[in-house]
Amino acid sequence: MRALVLERQHELSLREIDLPLEVGPTDVKIALHTVGVCGSDVHYYTHGRIGNFIVNAPMVLGHEAAGTVVEVGSKVTNLKAGDRVCMEPGIPDLSSRASKLGIYNVDPSVVFWATPPVHGVLTPFTVHPAAFTYKLPDNVSFAEGAMVEPFAVGMQAAARAGIAPGDVGAVIGAGPIGIMVALAALAGGCSKVLISDFSKEKLEIAGRYDGIVPVDLTKETFATAIARETDSWGADVVFEASGSAKAYNGIFDLVRPGGALVLVGLPVEPVTFDVPGAIAKEVRIETVFRYANIYDRALALIGSGKVDLKPLITGTYAFEESIAAFERAAKALPTDVKLQILMEG
Ligand SMILES: [Zn+2]
Repeated sequence: MRALVLERQHELSLREIDLPLEVGPTDVKIALHTVGVCGSDVHYYTHGRIGNFIVNAPMVLGHEAAGTVVEVGSKVTNLKAGDRVCMEPGIPDLSSRASKLGIYNVDPSVVFWATPPVHGVLTPFTVHPAAFTYKLPDNVSFAEGAMVEPFAVGMQAAARAGIAPGDVGAVIGAGPIGIMVALAALAGGCSKVLISDFSKEKLEIAGRYDGIVPVDLTKETFATAIARETDSWGADVVFEASGSAKAYNGIFDLVRPGGALVLVGLPVEPVTFDVPGAIAKEVRIETVFRYANIYDRALALIGSGKVDLKPLITGTYAFEESIAAFERAAKALPTDVKLQILMEG
């Protein structure tokens, strides 16, 4: 099959590659329709690695995907050929200890698309477990279906935060994941969500949503803005979504006493933070790794119209132009949120 292959750092090609397409009894075969370009795909392209995951052999990119079921395994009852679906890119071992606890996202043996050495899905067909394949509501497009993956990270962050109705949220970083977190926090009950960044363009995109208050860090500190918006009490929930080590300087000034700090962004190096500052407010600290048991909820919210991800799609490329899509994504234009690749149509 033809696929977008990362041969090694800095080198992409569209070429034929052998990929397994055997449909097991609990699998479905899917014709891919739309695949989003993720920051992690781009990072493997530009850096050849993310932490301990190193590209040592050619790897097909892409893990944010939606498509149509074309074949189902003999034991599959919940899906049929013709169903429009999106897929969770991580496949855990369902008999693992983590899976039995419901936290299959942290199963050490999880196999995740486009994470070396596992191939992704920028290719016309893939075979996937039916258990991790989700039917799209009729009013949810393939493009939106391919946005469920990054939105699920935001949903997981909102769930981990334990938001109470009316909470004030604060998100550090208005990149794609920061915006997803803000939208999920609003859907999860926040009365408003402040979001901070140094980029005017990113803040302008985030600020188009009702309930999101953009804070320009070139004009004021996040602490100043949060104090103004909360009577100097602090945000109930602060989400770190920038991955910048600098964000940890004074981070507990943003949180109200007894509030929560949710860590989403991945700093490259270990960071230091103010433990006495956290203890003095008895701040609850949560971490987020991908998502578990979130896709159905994310699809329900998108289908209900309460969450509109369409404005975040800032460019669409044909499969044959996918290298150009990656070159643009590597430029990290502040006006881009999500680029997608159309596999068919
Ligand atoms: Zn992604």
